[in-house]
Amino acid sequence: MSTLRFHALKAVHNRQPLQIKEQDKRSSIFGANVFNEKTMRQYLTKDALNAVVDAVQSGAKIDRTIADHISTGMKEWALTKGATHYTHWFQPLTGATAEKHDAFFETIGNGEAIERFGGGQLVQQEPDASSFPSGGIRNTFEARGYTAWDPTSPAFIYGTTLCIPTVFVAYTGEALDYKTPLLRALQAVDTAAVAVCKYFDKNVRKVNASLGWEQEYFLIDSALAMSRPDIVLTGRTLLGHAPAKGQQLDDHYFGTIPNRAMAYMRDLEFECMRLGIPVKTRHNEVAPNQFELAPIFDEANLAVDHNSLLMDVMDKVAERHHFKVLFHEKPFAGVNGSGKHNNWSLSTNTGVNLLSPGKTPMSNLQFLTFFINTIKAVREYEELLRASIASASNDHRLGANEAPPAIMSVFIGEQLTRVLDELENVTDGKLSPQEKTDLKLNVVGKIPDVLLDNTDRNRTSPFAFTGNKFEFRAVGSSANCANSMTVLNSIVAKQLTDFKDEVDALISKKDMKKDDAIFNVLREYIKTSKAILFEGNGYDVLWEKEAKKRGLSNNKTTPEALKVKVSDKTVSLFQDLGVMNKVESEARFEIEMEEYVMRIQIEGRVLGDIARNHVVPTAVRYQNMLIENVKGLKEIYEKDFRAFAKEQLNLIEEISGHIDGINANVTKMIAARKQANAIDSIEKRAKSYCNEVKSMFDPIRYHCDKLELLVDDEIWPLTKYRELLFTK
Ligand code: ADP
Ligand code: MG
Repeated sequence: MSTLRFHALKAVHNRQPLQIKEQDKRSSIFGANVFNEKTMRQYLTKDALNAVVDAVQSGAKIDRTIADHISTGMKEWALTKGATHYTHWFQPLTGATAEKHDAFFETIGNGEAIERFGGGQLVQQEPDASSFPSGGIRNTFEARGYTAWDPTSPAFIYGTTLCIPTVFVAYTGEALDYKTPLLRALQAVDTAAVAVCKYFDKNVRKVNASLGWEQEYFLIDSALAMSRPDIVLTGRTLLGHAPAKGQQLDDHYFGTIPNRAMAYMRDLEFECMRLGIPVKTRHNEVAPNQFELAPIFDEANLAVDHNSLLMDVMDKVAERHHFKVLFHEKPFAGVNGSGKHNNWSLSTNTGVNLLSPGKTPMSNLQFLTFFINTIKAVREYEELLRASIASASNDHRLGANEAPPAIMSVFIGEQLTRVLDELENVTDGKLSPQEKTDLKLNVVGKIPDVLLDNTDRNRTSPFAFTGNKFEFRAVGSSANCANSMTVLNSIVAKQLTDFKDEVDALISKKDMKKDDAIFNVLREYIKTSKAILFEGNGYDVLWEKEAKKRGLSNNKTTPEALKVKVSDKTVSLFQDLGVMNKVESEARFEIEMEEYVMRIQIEGRVLGDIARNHVVPTAVRYQNMLIENVKGLKEIYEKDFRAFAKEQLNLIEEISGHIDGINANVTKMIAARKQANAIDSIEKRAKSYCNEVKSMFDPIRYHCDKLELLVDDEIWPLTKYRELLFTK
């Protein structure tokens, strides 16, 4: 075995699971490192506490004197927890979280020093932001960026640093991060949903979007991961032959969690508890060494922060356990990829989940209203929803030969399909008293019983209703949930606003009763949303044909998918809702296209490098061994040697063929890259990278993987799939 592989594997065999001792009940450490309401009560004055609570509940501004009180309390608390530094914690458009630590420590002359943290430092900071992607916003406006405290997501201590969740915006107001548009979208859906709720309950004052994500990931031993330049640099394997045994036996899914992985999970969960991330579920996923972790759902902004924080914590805890976490959507070809299901719902300040059927016909009509409006929103903006999850890495799942497909569709189950069918036949115009009674008793009134057995969950659907929430399953495992949540909440906000307008118009212009008007508008929505409803197998090729007939988009690649982000329809959607102005929409489009190009560019370089510097030299070495062997046979058998050297000679030829295949294709790929780099338009460059550069990956890989099977295992330099996937 090659030295590198040998040492990597040896390191793994010497590993012992870390002993994780939990003395405290998890509930008692939950939120121990979070500046939550309970802690605030202890460290803040009543006025300061009320100011924060008001800011959280109604978005009220916090004035500077109060901010000074809050920062002082926060500092006192942080010091008792051993914190020495503070940071504005934010989510720039790089995908990672960003932080710049400053010490509380300050000198005050005469050789003396104190710990200081003022309101100004809490509320606003100016990180040197010039290296974060801005999509031209900063160039255009020559504006600097600043971070501003988001009081709706509580501060927390990580390690010895007090982290303050913040938004990151340009001085001219444009968002430079994920959080800002998300907060605006959540505000929009709140306003729109409250207005609709008033039809049913006058007491509703606030509607929160909730998010419960499910994070899938691979855990690979760090020594093995480090031995693969492709994993180190791109987060996935760019080559590697499929192992003899893959996931076909399904013996990993929900199986016993391996010891080392279990120790990692417990350590991770312990960290999560202290940070207030309510993790609850853990299990093995479909592929070997693939796992999933899910928390109890939370308010969407907080849940997004928690997921970003979690990914960071997962990396850090993994270091202690000698693991590398792979968040990539497709780290191994031919092996199940990873996603991040986004369970989403809306709930009121009165404690009602708007996507959960209620106990009375009226509350069920409210449920149906939100249910049908969500479906209609997805129908209208399916392409934008697809764009919200587009990335170079997620392209390997969507539209490739793995679930879910690049076509957006909504699964609602048999029973709710029947309910919609009945509602579709509601009389046009005013309903007769008899019809209304019938509807209330037999259709709307029946929903709760019906949903109890709504268990036929379709795992192939990208957007499924699962009893009391929608589950957006096409989100990628490495994605920041803010992107998909911004779009989903925006399109639902827009839809609910339109709905309210239409219902009000029927009430005032056609003199309809409220119920009649609601039934009438919903009926039309059911008719116009039909194309998006699909109960069948999303992986079936027939679905692609059917979806095309229905006029649904099927954008298989990121450059294709992203275009809609700058369409007039999208730009005005975000503009009208106050989520993003045109400049912000265009900037994001550019950043995402750039990111796509860079990812493919890096992958291309790494693949070319491994193919030429690792694979070809190894193949040549093995070929030389064969040549030596043939020479020896010739020496012994002289002119009869061919009878004994037949296979060797074939192999020598075959290896030459593959070497040729690699070199020819790498040369082509490099030329394609040069050509693409010369293209000015980012849209065209991304397309060229997709069609001309990325398309060379498979042929290069094909020859490398063939060589992996031919070349002596002793000298193969790259850790193999079976070693990466089956070493525990
Ligand atoms: P699975 O999809 O694996 O079958 P479940 O249906 O048990 O899982 O739940 C998935 C996730 O849905 C959980 O993480 C849970 O927190 C989340 N969830 C449940 N109710 C809601 C809700 N009202 N809003 C958002 N997420 C929710
Ligand atoms: Mg799920």
